[in-house]
Amino acid sequence: MKTIGLLGGMSWESTLSYYKSINEGVKQALGGLHSAKICLYSVNFDEIEKLQHQGRWDETATILGEAAASVESGGADFLLICTNTMHKVAPDIEKHITIPILHIADATAEALKNDGIKKVGLLGTRFTMEQPFYKDRLIEQHGINVVVPNEADRTLVHDIIYQELCRGEIKDQSRQVYLEIIARLQQQGAEAVILGCTEIALLVQQQHTDVALFDTTAIHADAAVSMALKQN
Ligand code: GLU
Repeated sequence: MKTIGLLGGMSWESTLSYYKSINEGVKQALGGLHSAKICLYSVNFDEIEKLQHQGRWDETATILGEAAASVESGGADFLLICTNTMHKVAPDIEKHITIPILHIADATAEALKNDGIKKVGLLGTRFTMEQPFYKDRLIEQHGINVVVPNEADRTLVHDIIYQELCRGEIKDQSRQVYLEIIARLQQQGAEAVILGCTEIALLVQQQHTDVALFDTTAIHADAAVSMALKQN
C-alpha cells in the first residue's frame, strides 16, 4: 500500500471528512483492521484565508509548497491538496516536490465522464467559480462544459463557505439557499452539480435534491484509495 500525503486544514472541518473517507475506503477494500497509510500536514487556515482574500497567492504557494515538501519527506508517495481553491497554486506547489499531485478537478472529471455528464454546474468559493484554474481544466482537458451561479448567488455560496462551513456551522437556512441555487443551475442546463468546495457536503447531501451531486471530497478521497492500492 502506498502512503497518501494530505495537505489539509483548509479547513480542518473538511480534512476530517478526507481522513474518515480514505480510511473507510481502505477498510472496505482490504477488510479487517486495515487502515490507510497517511502523512498529513494541516496548516493554520487563518493565515491562508487572509492571504487569499488579499490576493497574495504567491505567499500561499510558499507556505503550501514547504508543507508539501514536509509531507514528501514524511514518506508520502503522492499528494492530495485537500481543497479545491488552493489548486490555483498547484503548479507552484509541484515545484517543491518530486511526488505527483492527484488533482481534484481531474478526479472529479473522471467521475463525471463515467456518468456521461457533459454540462455541469459548479459551486465553490468565488475563486473556484470565477477564475480559470478550475473551470478551464474541466473544459480544456476533459471536454466538460461548466455553468456557474450568477453574481448574487456566487456571493451567497462564497460567504456561507467562509462564514459558516469552514467554522463548523451547519444551518438549515443556508442549506435551503444552496438548494435554490442548485435548482437554478439545473434551469441553466446543468445535468449535475459539482460540490466544488470540500466543505459543501457537510451542508448538502444527495438526499436533499434530485439533481445529481458530485462531492469533490468523496471523489478525491476515493481516487486516493484507488491510487494507494494500485499495484505497479
Ligand atoms: N475547502 C474549500 C475548497 O475546497 C475552501 C477553503 C479554501 O479556501 O481552501 O475550496
